[in-house]
Amino acid sequence: MEFEPVIGLEVHSQLKTHTKIFCACSTEFGADPNTHVCPVCLGMPGVLPVLNKTVVEYAMRMALATHCSITKESRFARKNYFYPDLPKGYQISQYEFPIAEHGHVNIVLEDGTAKRIGITRIHMEEDAGKLMHDPARPVSRVDYNRTGTPLIEIVSEPDIRSPEEAGAYLRQLRSILRYLGISDGNMEEGSFRCDANVSIRPKGTEPFGTRAELKNLNSFKYVESAIAYEIKRQKAVLADGGAVVQETRLWDSAKNRSHSMRGKEEAHDYRYFPDPDLVPLVIDDAWIDAVRQGLPELPEARKERFVSEYALPLYDAEILTSARELADYFEDCARAVKNPKLVSNWVMGTLLGLLKAEGKTIEQSPVPSSRLAELLLLIETSVISGKIAKTVFDEMVASGKAPKVIVEEKGLVQVTDESAIEAVVDQVISANPSEVEKFKAGNAKLMGFFVGQVMRETKGKANPQIVNKLLNGKLK
Ligand code: ADP
Ligand code: MG
Ligand code: ZN
Repeated sequence: MEFEPVIGLEVHSQLKTHTKIFCACSTEFGADPNTHVCPVCLGMPGVLPVLNKTVVEYAMRMALATHCSITKESRFARKNYFYPDLPKGYQISQYEFPIAEHGHVNIVLEDGTAKRIGITRIHMEEDAGKLMHDPARPVSRVDYNRTGTPLIEIVSEPDIRSPEEAGAYLRQLRSILRYLGISDGNMEEGSFRCDANVSIRPKGTEPFGTRAELKNLNSFKYVESAIAYEIKRQKAVLADGGAVVQETRLWDSAKNRSHSMRGKEEAHDYRYFPDPDLVPLVIDDAWIDAVRQGLPELPEARKERFVSEYALPLYDAEILTSARELADYFEDCARAVKNPKLVSNWVMGTLLGLLKAEGKTIEQSPVPSSRLAELLLLIETSVISGKIAKTVFDEMVASGKAPKVIVEEKGLVQVTDESAIEAVVDQVISANPSEVEKFKAGNAKLMGFFVGQVMRETKGKANPQIVNKLLNGKLK
């Protein structure tokens, strides 16, 4: 029997506010343990939480960017459980009345297929602290700095059908969060976390199978491999005549497998109830409109504009708009240069290749957009060839010098003087009589050889169009 995977993701994303969700403590990362704490986030008796307005606005931004409808009157609830990093004995979250519901994001798979993934809900909640286990001694310590850091949880509909779709969905969410400037979206550092719910069902049938929930997926790669593993595991269970049980499983990236953490019987009963310390959150249309006005251009819209405004292939637009800073870099260059496709080729090929090799982000690029634009202008105005430009680029990276300076210092200006090139062309033709004969007999591939010889003689400085034109004329 053929099975179809059904996947729904729960994503927690830390919001980049300066202060925590219910108190004025700093959310700054990396401070000494327990220095960003106060009676509120330490859960002292009798204290009162006060909702941070910026958290609400950030959640609204994400809600609007993902086409959710915003709940006019949402509520905070207490989710009760005991854990050492949760000093109150409950987490303040939203339960029955989340701030937003019924949205979607569009994803594009590697083969170009587009798909819409539904968003069930987005709600706000507070993060817990961090336990620090000392491997040298039988003690654990707790750091409450993270306690009360604002989170949004984004719950997807079970619309995802493969590990690849899960990866594309997560990347799209992260890209939107970053465009909105509300979250770092950094999975490795834990500011963007994902739990995956996975089940399988016979292909062509409606009812969902029993799901397992995968936790501890702290990289895009782990999400995809954990889901792939889980699909295989469930298929094997069913093929064996067994039944999938509802459980929570932990991904072990070292062993490349998951193991059961707890079953349904051990699942928590959180005894949610409305938090009596917090009034209902009322959001009116004027507030929604104001937040909507402040939204930046989002990745999808920007991608479409890159196609229409710069006539880029969809593939280029997809890559260039994947991060806001990369798209900005491209546009800075494209404004200064005539041919946007030339910019796109250089940014996607040479520049991204360099950044990848050096492990740098676009913000850390050793070549700023203005400098790359100067270099590309030299190509467009025929001062240097594209090939020489690669050499100049490497030198720009190494020395930080302006392209014009490098071209002058190294004498790299392109030769466009036809008579000077013609002399070299004649010389190459007379030095290679047997190749000329073969070419004339129909071996068209030899044109590359002649061009190469001329380029070698001119140290790559001859204008390639003129070289081609002259060779074509003389070898007829
Ligand atoms: P819980 O809060 O107990 O985890 P939810 O109903 O909120 O349960 O569902 C959490 C996630 O699980 C959602 O993303 C949803 O799409 C997904 N989900 C629900 N049922 C299934 C299923 N049978 N197979 C795969 N995913 C599922
Ligand atoms: Mg869950
Ligand atoms: Zn505090």
